[in-house]
Amino acid sequence: MVHNLHACGVFGKDERALSARAFPAPFSDDRTAFDRDRDRIVQARAFRRLAGKTQVFTSRASDHFRSRLTHTIEVTQVARQVARALNLNVDLAEALALVHDIGHPPFGHAGERALDACLKQHGLRFDHNLHALRIVERFEQRYAGHRGLNLTLGTREGIIKHSRDYTLQGHPGLAEYFLGQKPPIEAQLIDLADEIAYLTADLDDGVESGLLEIGHIREHVEILRQSYLIVERAHPEGEEKYVFHDALQAMQKTLILDLIHTTAENVERAGARSLQDIRELDHRVAILSSAAEALRLQEKRYLYDTLYTCPALELEHEKAEEVIREMFDFWVEFPEELPESYEEDVRTEGLARVVADYIAGMTDNFILLQYAEVRRRIRQGYGSLTGKRASQSDPL
Ligand code: MG
Repeated sequence: MVHNLHACGVFGKDERALSARAFPAPFSDDRTAFDRDRDRIVQARAFRRLAGKTQVFTSRASDHFRSRLTHTIEVTQVARQVARALNLNVDLAEALALVHDIGHPPFGHAGERALDACLKQHGLRFDHNLHALRIVERFEQRYAGHRGLNLTLGTREGIIKHSRDYTLQGHPGLAEYFLGQKPPIEAQLIDLADEIAYLTADLDDGVESGLLEIGHIREHVEILRQSYLIVERAHPEGEEKYVFHDALQAMQKTLILDLIHTTAENVERAGARSLQDIRELDHRVAILSSAAEALRLQEKRYLYDTLYTCPALELEHEKAEEVIREMFDFWVEFPEELPESYEEDVRTEGLARVVADYIAGMTDNFILLQYAEVRRRIRQGYGSLTGKRASQSDPL
């Protein structure tokens, strides 16, 4: 089966329309508009900070684990492969993969949950896709003529819509992003590229950490069991950890090929012939077959039960939540301790949102340093921190 979805991809007049930027950008070189977006994203400070943010395991435990940056690069590998196999716009898919986690706060999902809980008390929510949009539109400042990275409409649409749909009612500020329509396939495929990358990586890092055991995974993760048997047959004398690694690669390949085939089949079945046809469908086309989806869910359930919620990681999560909560409360109570550059935003956005923005941008290490510093000052009864906080029962 030849998979050529070029007619439904972001090319030609659709590419030109989605290349629109809020501010003019001189076209002085050979790069496509999405190429330029990719380069701007890679040059962004928020992108570099992904190196210091937890994916699942903190870098304090080992240098071998994925960070959010290396996870991002692995998602990009998958996204490029899928986009290329389907003859879609690889530059757009690559830019979207590189930017897909740029809105994540420190400490992985525990950090995200904690920040969301803090904001809820102020009637607000934290959403990493919306935060990513704020980063690329406002917080990245490196150009003389404007705030933000001035990314194309296509990349900005993909940032918010790659993993979920937003309604105009709930988000009137997002009106320009074709709400009520499905995003291009290049954006749709990012969600599963992300899943496929981390489902592979987390088994690998789980074993590396000693929290998961190859024999147990083989017995309980059906998709891995299947690929393990095939690799084992080819390498009957192979050392377990290398057979396991090859089996992980085989598992990843199975999921990637399934995504490619199923996406092509769905487009064919829907009779879609253009990007507009894709947009007007009532469902996404970049999904797995029902058989592969069942295997994916089974593996995800396994990772939740045995890894993400295991006592060692839960302890980390609790610590992360405590740090985020304490620092959020601290800056809300003492806004004068925020960097001066945030003052104007406090006036326009409100204090709670600005504190969340500030925290969300931090690396794990940076917020831990802030936390240690605040605790040190509390212990010493220093400056404005004496009073209320020095009397707390848990002297930090
Ligand atoms: Mg991700």
